[in-house]
Amino acid sequence: MIIVRTIDALRAAASSWRRAGKTVALIPTMGALHEGHLSLVRLGQIICDQTIVTIFLNPFQFGKNEDLGSYPSNLAQDTEILKVVGADLLFTPDDKEMYPDGFSTGIIPGPVSKTLCGAFRPGHFRGVATIVTKLLMQSQPDKAIFGEKDYQQLLVIRKISSDLNIPVEIVSAPTEREPDGLALSSRNAYLSPSERSLAPLLYRTLCRAAEEIKAHPETPDEICARADQELRSSGFSSVDYVTLCDSETLENMQFYDRPARLLAAANIGKTRLIDNVQL
Ligand code: AMP
Repeated sequence: MIIVRTIDALRAAASSWRRAGKTVALIPTMGALHEGHLSLVRLGQIICDQTIVTIFLNPFQFGKNEDLGSYPSNLAQDTEILKVVGADLLFTPDDKEMYPDGFSTGIIPGPVSKTLCGAFRPGHFRGVATIVTKLLMQSQPDKAIFGEKDYQQLLVIRKISSDLNIPVEIVSAPTEREPDGLALSSRNAYLSPSERSLAPLLYRTLCRAAEEIKAHPETPDEICARADQELRSSGFSSVDYVTLCDSETLENMQFYDRPARLLAAANIGKTRLIDNVQL
């Protein structure tokens, strides 16, 4: 596996592959790698000839009171894991490489970024859109792979790449879960043993609410409000949202009559968990 820390070295490797007629998959991550990330790398290996994994903890997508300072990181372990999986290139720039002094440009995504997590994390999707656009321009991959775990992020990235005519195919990958249903996430490392045993309730509640909505398509809001209440009364410290949304636009749906996604964000202690299911 080639390991590079500069944009020039990334470009040189990616363009030599392109010149050799190889297709390239990009898998952006913030590190603290788990099986969810690795499933994206394996998908990249299936659909393209070469895989580039990036590890960059992007400060601009964290709010002032968020967990940037405590976000788990273990570059040495991540590097070993990626070698074993067989990624072709690891790009780990530092902050100065990505945001040199005087950096002053941002990508402002549209309406799909304003609801749900966008409403609770001001500036988050601007940070995501900016870093992902930079990574796409730097590596110019044929395909870039993102997890459905971060469903709103996936839609934001699809929209910026189509609105800005970035010549890349955005590919989605299903959410990898623990055996008890908890979606794998780097942030799960924050959970204490008792919080960890509560956490799978988020996915169970979403699955049950999804079945109820299928049976009663006329009352999604009531069903979501009940799910929200159940999470709070079971020990979640707060619930940001449980909402049925149009799968493409993320507009709230008052009636389930077309492809929909049920999305939730909820906090256990200081840990914010997100999850979603397709209907
Ligand atoms: P992150 O390091 O959290 O920024 O995630 C990097 C990529 O991995 C994003 O495209 C995520 O959606 C994806 N991802 C995170 N968790 C999972 C999971 N449990 N299953 C599949 N993909 C995931």
